[in-house]
Amino acid sequence: AAKAAGKNRVQEYTSALAADRDRRTRLITDLRRALAAEELTVHYQPVVELTTGRITAVEALVRWVPPGQPPISPVEFIPVAEESGLIGPLGAWVLRRALRDARMWHQRYGMSVGVNVSARQLREPGIAQLILDELAAQRLPGAALVVEITESVLVVNDGPEAAAVLAVLDRLREHGVRIAVDDFGTGYSSLAYLRTLPVDVLKIDRAFVQGSARGGDPAAFLRAIVQLGRSLGLRTVAEAVETPAQASRLLQMHCTLAQGYFFSRPIAADELGTLLAKTGGRFDTTTIGAIAA
Ligand code: C2E
Ligand code: MG
Ligand code: MG
Ligand code: MG
Repeated sequence: AAKAAGKNRVQEYTSALAADRDRRTRLITDLRRALAAEELTVHYQPVVELTTGRITAVEALVRWVPPGQPPISPVEFIPVAEESGLIGPLGAWVLRRALRDARMWHQRYGMSVGVNVSARQLREPGIAQLILDELAAQRLPGAALVVEITESVLVVNDGPEAAAVLAVLDRLREHGVRIAVDDFGTGYSSLAYLRTLPVDVLKIDRAFVQGSARGGDPAAFLRAIVQLGRSLGLRTVAEAVETPAQASRLLQMHCTLAQGYFFSRPIAADELGTLLAKTGGRFDTTTIGAIAA
């Protein structure tokens, strides 16, 4: 009986694997079609300066809602796009869309737009030129763009691949494009290493902002990351701020930039346009300041 049960479990496991593989295969096909059909959209989430309430930037986040189906999270389809090579065209599409949408926001409000660039995309030949060409096509300066990369992109051993990535980042920075390290604190960047890297911004991972990081005192970690950023002359942006208490804690720690549901969820370009028109590009953060004071 035990043997039969074991065999059953193996069968279940094998068929679960097969189902997973099928889903991924279908996902690749559907994503390729969705991209061609312009079925993807980009939403934007404000980045807020806590001291003034000013929206200094937005982050572009891709969205996929297949017709008649529930949305599929980028957490699911971005890795699939990476593995299948679709990330090249997908990333280029998001970049173009984001720069087009952000053009007026940059001109009117001086806002920049953050675009997530995945590891594989960053390794594609010609990526720096592609980015600079898209900026030029929108007649935008490099300063209008922040390229968000993850620590894993940077923490590769020395070698031609690492050197190529560093050359891409250097070239972009020469043109005024800023580089942000996304989900900071979850990877393995050492202090010494970080000092040598061509980066401008640290985006503090939600685990530290929300105090859900495992081990140690999360507030102490948060403070340490903010101080690390300051000592390296980098800006720090807190991700996933959901409550006024979190916002005022950040303010007390001198982390003055934040994004999260507390201010706004990622919203469609036209919704953001309405929000900007209504608020003049500024949230009321006086209550946060009052709590912090
Ligand atoms: P990310 O770059 O770290 O983006 C921030 C994520 O946090 C977004 O999830 C955003 O919706 C979510 N978020 C914002 N505020 C809050 C909050 O207050 N609470 C919580 N719980 N979450 C919040 P989203 O849109 O699902 O994207 C997930 C990840 O997918 C992104 O993480 C990024 O790594 C990737 N991604 C999204 N769009 C693109 C893209 O165009 N290209 C690439 N390569 N990756 C993308
Ligand atoms: Mg990001
Ligand atoms: Mg992040
Ligand atoms: Mg992320």
